[in-house]
Amino acid sequence: MKIGFIGLGNMGAPMAANLAKAGHEVTGFDTAQVDIPGVSMAASAAEAATGAEVVITMLPNGEILRKVAAEIIPAMAPGAVFLDCSTVDVDSARAVAAEAQAAGLSALDAPVSGGVGGAEAGTLTFMVGGDAAGFETAKPLFETMGRKAVHCGPSGNGQAAKICNNMILGATMIVTCEAFALADKLGLDRQAMFDVVSTSSGQSWSMNTYCPAPGVGPTSPADNAYQPGFAADLMLKDLRLAMQAAETADADTPIGQAACTLYARFVEDEDGAGRDFSAMLPRFERRGRT
Ligand code: NAD
Repeated sequence: MKIGFIGLGNMGAPMAANLAKAGHEVTGFDTAQVDIPGVSMAASAAEAATGAEVVITMLPNGEILRKVAAEIIPAMAPGAVFLDCSTVDVDSARAVAAEAQAAGLSALDAPVSGGVGGAEAGTLTFMVGGDAAGFETAKPLFETMGRKAVHCGPSGNGQAAKICNNMILGATMIVTCEAFALADKLGLDRQAMFDVVSTSSGQSWSMNTYCPAPGVGPTSPADNAYQPGFAADLMLKDLRLAMQAAETADADTPIGQAACTLYARFVEDEDGAGRDFSAMLPRFERRGRT
């Protein structure tokens, strides 16, 4: 397939490289200087989009996505697919999709989970909103860049699925960390705590697969001095998007709000920036109730 790829950062670069490796003709554009094996670089976003059957964007936020969309939609041929894989606010995803559809394009919002490791290994999960025909066209690309793609419904629903999942993840990680810190203070051994909780009703992905306590459970960023992994900064971004969506939709999300406030404090006022989001455990360890 002829593919335009815009936004070749930590995630976009390995995703584009995997598409090129699979034999697709990939033309890329990024405002930064990048060099990716098998990907030819264009001088502008519009140039990268011209003549492409699918244009993929992997950009930092909704504002930049809207700007890039305004440049590339007029350059794209009717019937082509605009596939945004960035994590952005639901409103921007829906606005961009509406513009694309008005220009005769298929539009998909398909944020990912799996991080840089998943992008490199081609094992991402895609949560996809948009029309069924576009989803079918993009399916082979999802299969190259990832392991799983779930069609979640109309435009914006991919972003909705992503932020709901990550709101659960953020809140669950926090409570898992505070429970470990409480267990420490009660004299309960961490290994015993893991052995009980990971096989009891308190189990979760945060406990069972990504245990925040070093030396306990499967290998995780906790065993690597809390190097990310999934950075607390990115968790904060997703929680803010969740809170923005909750406000727009008039949804009551008190625990999500508490998680957002706590990650904001951790990243902006404490030592959380650049650390894995499970580094909440050493944070709680050091603290008392005030
Ligand atoms: P990044 O900052 O490494 O990459 C973004 C790229 O976009 C950069 O190379 C930047 O130069 C480029 N860019 C910015 N403005 C541009 C423009 N106007 N035109 C063309 N290129 C432009 O970020 P990333 O880590 O690759 O993340 C990309 C998206 O994926 C984000 O929305 C992020 O939330 C999401 N995401 C990231 C991870 C992760 O672990 N890094 C995991 C899941 C989802």
